[in-house]
Amino acid sequence: MSSWRDTTCGALTAADVGKTVTLAGWADTRRDHGGLVFVDLRDFSGKVQLVLNPEHAPAAAELAREIRNEFVLQATGEVVQRAPDAVNPNLSTGEIEVQVQELRILSRSTPLPFQLGDEVDENLRLKYRWLDMRTERMQRNLRLNHTVIQSIRRTMDRLGFIDVWTPSMTRGTPEGARDFLTPVRLQPGTFYALAQSPQIFKQLCMIGGLDRYYQIATCWRDEDLRADRQFEFRQLDLEMSFVDRQDVLDVLEACVVDAFDAAGRTPPARPFPHLTYADALRRYGTDKPDLRFGLEIEDATEVTRGSQFGVFAAADVVRFIAAPRAFSRAELGRLEEVAREWGAKGLAYLVNDGGEVRSPIAKFLSEQELAALTPQPGHTALFAAADESTVSRVLGGLRLHIARELDLMETGEEIFHWVVDFPLFERDEDSGGWTFMHHAFTAAVAGDEEKIESDPGAVLGQHYDLIWNGWELGSGSLRIHDAEVQQSVFRAMGIPEEEQRSKFGYLLDALAMGAPPHGGFAMGIDRFIARMAGEPDIRQVIAFPKVASGADPLTGGPTPMPESVLKELGIRSIVDAPSA
Ligand code: ASP
Repeated sequence: MSSWRDTTCGALTAADVGKTVTLAGWADTRRDHGGLVFVDLRDFSGKVQLVLNPEHAPAAAELAREIRNEFVLQATGEVVQRAPDAVNPNLSTGEIEVQVQELRILSRSTPLPFQLGDEVDENLRLKYRWLDMRTERMQRNLRLNHTVIQSIRRTMDRLGFIDVWTPSMTRGTPEGARDFLTPVRLQPGTFYALAQSPQIFKQLCMIGGLDRYYQIATCWRDEDLRADRQFEFRQLDLEMSFVDRQDVLDVLEACVVDAFDAAGRTPPARPFPHLTYADALRRYGTDKPDLRFGLEIEDATEVTRGSQFGVFAAADVVRFIAAPRAFSRAELGRLEEVAREWGAKGLAYLVNDGGEVRSPIAKFLSEQELAALTPQPGHTALFAAADESTVSRVLGGLRLHIARELDLMETGEEIFHWVVDFPLFERDEDSGGWTFMHHAFTAAVAGDEEKIESDPGAVLGQHYDLIWNGWELGSGSLRIHDAEVQQSVFRAMGIPEEEQRSKFGYLLDALAMGAPPHGGFAMGIDRFIARMAGEPDIRQVIAFPKVASGADPLTGGPTPMPESVLKELGIRSIVDAPSA
């Protein structure tokens, strides 16, 4: 292998008994037993027990007394069978040990800020990420990362995609987030944006005749950091020419299934089911429903139209979920709080305590209403009555909360599905005007183009999302390939002609010079791998992530910059820089 080692720690088995080997790695633990010293030597592949016996190798045994955790060692010795009562069934190398003849300390370690594998604050783990990386968890996650990415590359190659590098520094591609900016010294006062995605570039690749583009693309978005969000993250970004929706979905399904295979896991069955956006909202209260459990939202609008219970009678929409538990008063109080957090004014309920209905509103309900709405014995119906979007939000939130509380989520199933038929536009909460639901380049479904400007709210887009157990893995769409239609979308969004030209002139020109019909997708790789790894957030599968405040505990970034540097870039800071 090399002069440092001729095999790795985890590779040794009983078949190696009798061989003399040289190993190198970290001292995981050291135990002194009278004269004998035992060291678990660890490298990326696993651990093996070294035995240092003063009778066989006095110099090595003497040196071994200096070993502390995480010293880097090189040891040469004979692989021997362990005594039957010393076999460690928890270790792949547990049947053997190495009787060391020669030992070298290659590198020492200061006392550690934490013991590897101990539950410690994440800031501390990230500050000392090089230590954290030595843990089994991080080794497993980063290796899984590699396995998945290699598998994706193989799939994309097999399907005829070519990897094209697109710029990070660009003129802003609108994905609905804030841009990170890069000042350009050579043109003082000007900035590039760091690409929120390669969206326009990949469309230009199609117009350029590349036919099938992909990239494991880094994207930058200035958004609040969360479990599934970092300032910079990676997407499997792809674009295809002359395709229908199903062609794009097939590529993603192949990538997912192949990645599961590569990771040694049972892949989800294809084709992944489809759910329309309207159905997703009505039945699950969200456009990224977790389909591992039922708890579907049911409608009570019709039956409550003339209700004596004024809240029901007056609401646009009355819907409910029937949870499989007769909740206590205290539990209902907590559920009401959850409902309020999601925007409800209160929480009406009907509890069926095995025949007895418990509810403050029962006395207002007619027999017909009670017959329709009383849940099965041992269940509780929880109602939301308001405008449609509030009702969806509240019941969608309650549904997830209840599934978590009642342990309905972790069924062991992996459910991938598509959400399709999104509206092209939605109302912008700030301006009240129309804005895109996906991005400005998504095509309307055939026949809806005429309504783009006359009735934007009624236009369906050719946009689709991929969901895994309630996590949105990514989005894509068939794109507009006609400059005129693209301009009508800009107009519907209230972007004046001048701004269209100044911001997107190059795209409009390209669309006007022979653009093939095309479509694509981007899947969040970090999200996908985090889920694969069973991790709760993407930081656990990213080598060097940032924390929620946007800081990087490892390097201490971000930092203020000296005046001289700012001046050269033509920048004056209007905030007092924090002291370095
Ligand atoms: N550019 C889009 C995104 O980053 C994905 C796509 O439409 O292909 O979400």
